[in-house]
Amino acid sequence: METYRCERLLRRADARVERDVAIAVEDGRIREVLPAAELTPERASGAVGLPGLTVPGLVDAHTHLRSAPAAGQSHLPGLSFEQWAYALGALTPLPPLADATAAAGELLRAGVTSAQIVLHSWGGREERLAELEAAAAAVESAGLRALIVLGFTDQAEYLPAGLDDTEVPLPHRGLPLAEWPALIREARELVGRASRRISLAIGPVAPQWCSDAALGVLAGERGELRVHTHLHESAPQRDWLGTGETPLARLVRFDLLGPFASVAHGVHLTAEEIRTLAERRAAAVHCPSSNAGLGVGTAAVAEWLRRGVEAGIGMDSQVPSEPDAFAEARAALRAAQETGDALTPAQALRMAALGGARAMGSDSGEIVVGAPADFIVLDTDCAGGAEEILETVDRSMLRRSVIDGETRFLPSEDEQSEFARLRSELAGIVERDAAARDERLAALAGPLGCVRDRVLEQNGGPR
Ligand SMILES: [Zn+2]
Repeated sequence: METYRCERLLRRADARVERDVAIAVEDGRIREVLPAAELTPERASGAVGLPGLTVPGLVDAHTHLRSAPAAGQSHLPGLSFEQWAYALGALTPLPPLADATAAAGELLRAGVTSAQIVLHSWGGREERLAELEAAAAAVESAGLRALIVLGFTDQAEYLPAGLDDTEVPLPHRGLPLAEWPALIREARELVGRASRRISLAIGPVAPQWCSDAALGVLAGERGELRVHTHLHESAPQRDWLGTGETPLARLVRFDLLGPFASVAHGVHLTAEEIRTLAERRAAAVHCPSSNAGLGVGTAAVAEWLRRGVEAGIGMDSQVPSEPDAFAEARAALRAAQETGDALTPAQALRMAALGGARAMGSDSGEIVVGAPADFIVLDTDCAGGAEEILETVDRSMLRRSVIDGETRFLPSEDEQSEFARLRSELAGIVERDAAARDERLAALAGPLGCVRDRVLEQNGGPR
């Protein structure tokens, strides 16, 4: 049993800061939270002192585990979401393990202790398993808790259904639908052999990018696995298939929306659809920086919460330089403010921890007896609640991260130098490819114009 003695402690987003509190941890879980004055002299002398403020570890409830050098190059101003998704193919490819390892290290330094990670490519069986293995190894090296989502698509990723155009070549699909079940089985085994902190989920990358047959396969293979998907991220996605049936309705039809599911973005949801999420007890993940960066609109998050939807926050690997989970919670506050339907700081902080944890099916996110021992320590004299924390705290104040009862981050030079080396190596690859990448992007002008025209066609003209 390890005992920590917190100078100040915030157990939950809506709690008050308490002084001189001890946390006892055993086998990765919190066994006791008690006033330090009640510790026996032996326990008090053996306790690890935590000066500053201890708070629940934050959760990045939607990420693609791309490092900052990869996110930096994906800022393609002036493109619509649909064009951006197509242009991603022209970006500089990075070595998957190095990219994932740097990204996991960045999340740890952002104040994050848990992440829901979406993996998607058009690779074949071996490539997809290698991606999964790289993500699991990266998460393991950072010590994060993670739900890794194997994402699938089989149609209409670039253009609305039925508008296939020779100018916009289809991706080469390395994994036929018939082989998805076997891949999911192998992925289960692979993740089962990894740490107890890592679990597997599956999902369509977005429902409109999967045929009925594909959604049927995912529903059939789900078993006890959780489901995660992008949902109604941009306006044209609502009728991408031209059938009048929304992506959300298709999730419902295939029984892929329930307490086992979370959906990311949810920018374009009607009041009725928000009610459906609440009734089915599915969680939603707000991605404020990503939504703003891609210009898709602003999610009605205060309305989600009023309707009783469990909600988390995700950075979506779209934060350009140094990810900061506190800054992302502030972005959520700002985005809601701009819609005229504000969130309270306690709501935003709760989403950044407990809400995100629930969205990935974890019982972490608060410092209570029985919960996983996932918390972070901040070098701040902040003694107020959520409002003061969100006003004053940032990632530079991180002094320790404890995950599953183990200290995974201390700002010691050794750890930082390895991480810094990896990051600069990746930044170098992106930098050296700049001119060639610009050429590849310039060569996409035709297809990108075609994507724009077709999407407008689908949506009955400019909006
Ligand atoms: Zn995403």
